[in-house]
Amino acid sequence: MKQMTCIVCPVGCHLSIDDNLKITGNRCPRGEKYGIDEMTNPKRMLTSTVRTTLSTHPRLSVKSRTALPKGLIFEAISVLDDIIIDKNVKIGDVIVTNIMNTGVDMVATANIQFDTHPGRTI
Ligand code: SF4
Repeated sequence: MKQMTCIVCPVGCHLSIDDNLKITGNRCPRGEKYGIDEMTNPKRMLTSTVRTTLSTHPRLSVKSRTALPKGLIFEAISVLDDIIIDKNVKIGDVIVTNIMNTGVDMVATANIQFDTHPGRTI
């Protein structure tokens, strides 16, 4: 029997999951789906940053558009380590398409604006 807290909503039901993936303790069907997903294919949202060439704004925050398989999170972070932004970005722009072949894009959560004058940054 596995115990976990459902984090789908603020109620935070205490779930019990047996070896046959029978869920008890959930107050709604979303808890059952959450418990089964956590036992069979847990996923997490990924929030992180990537480097930029802008000295006044050296990191750009990014997030996954949807949750990624938990087992791929560290490899996805390694992919982000290799990204360097050197052009204007708006919130929602795709920074990495289909990261780790998950079908999930990493998108910017901030704007970054480079100066139009060569050699200068703002
Ligand atoms: S089981 Fe339903 S009510 Fe309970 S925490 Fe999960 S989503 Fe909320």
